[in-house]
Amino acid sequence: MKIATRFIHAGAEPDPSTGAIMTPIYQTSTYVQSAPGEHKGYEYARSQNPTRKALEDAYAQIENGRYGLAFSSGVAATDAVIKLFKPGDEVIAASDMYGGTYRLFTKIFEKFGIRFHYIDMQDAGNIKQYINANTRLIWAETPTNPLMNIVDIAAVAALSKEHNILLCVDNTFASPYLQNPLDLGADIVMHSATKYLGGHSDVIQGCLMMNDKELRDQLYFIQKSCGAVPGPQDCFLVLRGIKTLHVRMQRHCENGAIIAHWLRDHSKVGKVYWPGFEDSAGYAIAKKQMRDFGGMISFELKNDSVEEVRRLLSSTRLFALAESLGGVESLINHPASMTHASIPREERIKNGLNDSLIRLSVGIEDADDLIADLQNAIG
Ligand SMILES: *Cc1c(COP(=O)(O)O)cnc(C)c1O
Repeated sequence: MKIATRFIHAGAEPDPSTGAIMTPIYQTSTYVQSAPGEHKGYEYARSQNPTRKALEDAYAQIENGRYGLAFSSGVAATDAVIKLFKPGDEVIAASDMYGGTYRLFTKIFEKFGIRFHYIDMQDAGNIKQYINANTRLIWAETPTNPLMNIVDIAAVAALSKEHNILLCVDNTFASPYLQNPLDLGADIVMHSATKYLGGHSDVIQGCLMMNDKELRDQLYFIQKSCGAVPGPQDCFLVLRGIKTLHVRMQRHCENGAIIAHWLRDHSKVGKVYWPGFEDSAGYAIAKKQMRDFGGMISFELKNDSVEEVRRLLSSTRLFALAESLGGVESLINHPASMTHASIPREERIKNGLNDSLIRLSVGIEDADDLIADLQNAIG
């Protein structure tokens, strides 16, 4: 089935009790049993909920996976993955990744004895030297947040298989419309469904997709034992969001390309980070593993004084100054003080994330209006 059909029909079976075409919001905590232990597959809503079940089936289908699991947030999904491991185990992660993932790893899991290596993954060959007998997981994110670096998923997957290590890819920035890491050999795909999957900035949710039954069972055990499950209303919202993911993403990509090129040609704009530029470091790999280049762009101003950057960030009108991304409306963000403030400044700058970097989540408004807004703010 082609992508548009798959996204619209993913997880959508008419409700068996009424025929309702849209999955009902099963707002219930428990289910009546006809005799002790005799039930319809639903016992208690932390373990199973029909609205969540429909969404988890949809999650599996949109990533070409066999299984999907929903969590109360993206970081809750990441948290579940790391709970597969025990003290002494090691994880290789990227030095340029979502700040909340870095915070979870360094501030929560390091104290439980899990060891993390933060490395540059743009060259997959660089990973090998960090692999040892304790390595259990490679955690990759591509394109990275906020520098849009590209990691070669197939190359990292080959390495992880060779060493019998799991590979989990945070696919939030690309969305399943642009890239499907399971098809490239990853073991687990993670999304912050808060972003493109939900698509309307009205829900916090995360998910994991995988093919291996044993891995699914382990992660399901963590999901129900630790309890970071989303409520049925939130599951309904994401189910609805997924139906339009492909049309939204098409427009995000179109607008993203227009604005990336416009920024690059602007006399006051310095470096522009967008994986669709043919001369960008990751272009060849992006072209190989992604269907298009998305609507996430970062850039610097030539005049990168704090005052100038602050002035710009406060002067856009359509681009709302806010964290998050992937909604239909455009957002502007200052990673150093907002999304990535949890990474120590020294660490950030070492990884190329300067104080003056500005990140855009280009929405699906009219591109002319978005450009006029940026022109007005950049001056
Ligand atoms: C937002 C985000 C997360 C965390 O997801 P939440 O839903 O906010 O918990 C993880 N990774 C990336 C790339 C993100 O953008």
